[in-house]
Amino acid sequence: MDKQSDRLKRQGFARLDGEPFPVFEAGWVWLVGAGPGAPGLMSLLCYHALQSSDVVVYDALVNSSILDWVRPGTELEYAGKRGGKPSAQQRDISLRLIELASAGKRVLRLKGGDPFMFGRGGEECQHLVKAGIPFRIVPGITAGIGGLAYAGLPSTHRDTNHSVIFLTGHDASGKMPANVNWQAIATASPVIVMYMAVKHLAEIADALMAGGRDAGDPVTIISNATLPQQSVAETRLLEVKTFLAENELATPAIVVLGHVAEWRPVLDWYQGGLKENPIG
Ligand code: SAH
Repeated sequence: MDKQSDRLKRQGFARLDGEPFPVFEAGWVWLVGAGPGAPGLMSLLCYHALQSSDVVVYDALVNSSILDWVRPGTELEYAGKRGGKPSAQQRDISLRLIELASAGKRVLRLKGGDPFMFGRGGEECQHLVKAGIPFRIVPGITAGIGGLAYAGLPSTHRDTNHSVIFLTGHDASGKMPANVNWQAIATASPVIVMYMAVKHLAEIADALMAGGRDAGDPVTIISNATLPQQSVAETRLLEVKTFLAENELATPAIVVLGHVAEWRPVLDWYQGGLKENPIG
C-alpha cells in the first residue's frame, strides 16, 4: 500500500474528541513524546495531537512512519539535530516554534521518547514561557525504559536493583559531561542507563571503573530499540574498549550497565522468542 492510501486508511481511526482529549487550540504548542520508535508505543494523546495539529516540527529520532498518522495537509518540518551539534540550532528551533504559534498555528513539537528526558524539552518550554506562548506537555515512553523492555531487560527487578540512574554520555558541546560526579555515580546504583553514550563509552567505562565500579559488570547495548532492526550487544565493563574497537555499533543506542542483563536470556520475548523455562 502506498503512503497516501496508508494515510487515508488511518483516517478511519476514531477521532479522539472530548474528555479526556483536550482541544488543540490555535496558537498553542504541544510538546509531545512519540515513544522510542515502534509506532504502537505512541500515546493516545500523541495520536490525537497528530490528528489535530497544523504543523509538526519533528526530530531526527522520531520514526518517520509515525508521521503517516497526521491528517492530510498537515505541514511537516524537520528539526533534526544529531550528535550534539552546535546549540545555536536549538535556539533556532525554539524561535521557529514561537513564530509558528504566533501565526496562529497549532504546533506539534514531536520528539523521540519522552520530551523531558534528555530531549531539551525543558529548554524549549522556557523559550515558550518567555514568549508567552501557551503549551502542553505530552510525556512519551523513553528509550531508557521502553528500549530495555524490548531487549528483555526489566528496568528494575527486586533481585538485581532497587534503583536506576539515567545518565547522558555527552553534554551540550558533544563532550563527555564534565559536571557528572563519576566517582559518586560509579557505585550509587546497580543499574545505570546511558543515553547518547556510544561515542564516549570507552572513557565512561574508565571513569566508572576508576570510581570503583566492578569491572566485570555486564554492559548491554540496545541499538534501534523497539524497531524491526533492533540489535543487542553484550559485553563487560572491562572489555568495553576492545569490544568497541572490534564491533560497529548501530545508533541510536541505549547502554545499560548492570546485572539486569542476566534476565535477558529468560525474558527476551521480542527477538529471542519463548524459550524453555530456564528458571525451573
Ligand atoms: N527523549 C529521548 C532521548 C533523546 S536523547 C527519550 O526519552 O528516549 C537521544 C538518545 O536516546 C540516543 O542517543 C539514544 O541513546 C537514545 N535513543 C532514542 N531512541 C532510541 C532507540 N530507538 N534505540 C536506542 N536508543 C535510543
